[in-house]
Amino acid sequence: MEKTFLIKPMLDEIYPVIDYGKGVYLFDRNGKKYLDAASGAVTANIGHGVAEIVEAMMEQAKKVSFVYRSQFTSEAAEKLAAKIAEWTPGELNWCFFVNSGSEATETAMKMAIQHWQERGNQTKTKILSRWVSYHGITMGALSMSGHPSRRARFIPLLEDFPAINPPYCYRCPYNLEAPSCNYLCAKELETAIKRIGPDQIAAFIAEPVIGAAGGAISPPKDYFKQIKMICEEYDILFIADEVMTGFGRTGTMLACEQWGVVPDIVALGKGMGAGYAPIAAAVASEKVMEPILAGSKSVMSGHTLSANPQSCAVSLAVLEYLEKNDIMKEVDNKGVYLKYQLEKLKPQFNFIGDIRGKGLLLGIEFVADPITKQPFPRKLSVTQKIIEHAKDKGLLIYPAGSGIDGVNGDAVIISPPLTITKRE
Ligand code: PLP
Repeated sequence: MEKTFLIKPMLDEIYPVIDYGKGVYLFDRNGKKYLDAASGAVTANIGHGVAEIVEAMMEQAKKVSFVYRSQFTSEAAEKLAAKIAEWTPGELNWCFFVNSGSEATETAMKMAIQHWQERGNQTKTKILSRWVSYHGITMGALSMSGHPSRRARFIPLLEDFPAINPPYCYRCPYNLEAPSCNYLCAKELETAIKRIGPDQIAAFIAEPVIGAAGGAISPPKDYFKQIKMICEEYDILFIADEVMTGFGRTGTMLACEQWGVVPDIVALGKGMGAGYAPIAAAVASEKVMEPILAGSKSVMSGHTLSANPQSCAVSLAVLEYLEKNDIMKEVDNKGVYLKYQLEKLKPQFNFIGDIRGKGLLLGIEFVADPITKQPFPRKLSVTQKIIEHAKDKGLLIYPAGSGIDGVNGDAVIISPPLTITKRE
């Protein structure tokens, strides 16, 4: 066995060493070619080795790579914030830059709590969330995540935030179908708010399309409209965790736009730097920021590398690349085509239960029995085996599912770079 000096997520596996990437492909040191149909972890949204991004990195590095956020701002950070404000719907005008999706959701959580505090309401501190969700690995983000296997070891350190059922139509807890179900899963939000008391709740957080915990679970059409209405009725902020879905993954800058919903705060990450630099953001609306700007005047959070010009220049170049090449426009079309091709596999493989998703964020759920939807026992590690087999064949796909028996089935995400061609 080859020796490695890195701490690995899986100690029994030695990973291939990647030499370079080009477009939708990665090439390892032995010359093996991989089709990156997962964009790594739904991150390399414009593919690998894009010359414009490398140039933008170099240009910024020649000027300045780092300035500290409480001493200076930079042209790159200002331009990026302005561009995000321009590209997002409504009045999502205030960007707080961080370095990972977990930091973005935690910052969003803090902004929500601070918003109420600055309005004189000290009790609105709980964040409602959903089961079958993932908002990040740090303690605040994990507290909001309905992902049992990632929480299990750290339960004593987690805040006990309440959670409701997700819009998981394939395994509807009510055994109903949308829209005749009357969106009972969305109504659970209202029931939870009434039980806990709106004066205790700062915000509700949800992924527009559930990623890692579920495998591209897309909600029925009016689900988020209902959610937003309930939030407004009870004076609760709506945080959209668009870390996976944002920056065009579903064909629009934010996935929420697909349902005509404007969140109060948005968490962005992954595709924001497209893998070229670590960058993420919590983007807040004028409404959220108003009492903060009138009160203490700054968001009580931040990291040393927040808003560093180097990452901001990369993210700006990524947005400009998306814009110049009109990439989002084709995403829906490509997603429909890919889904159609995946559907053709169903008759051949009787363990495909569900094929779902939105844009180029697609998922397949594997089941022991497609009629009863009986999941495979976890101990069989079906997802892992499928992923390893695909990797052997030179195809990269991404694991999903909460990892606990009885919560959901085995699933994978298929999320190639948005630049992929139909032929690829
Ligand atoms: N939110 C969502 C929806 C995610 O999918 C992820 C990561 O998979 C995160 C937050 C956390 O992002 P990061 O891994 O960059 O901390």
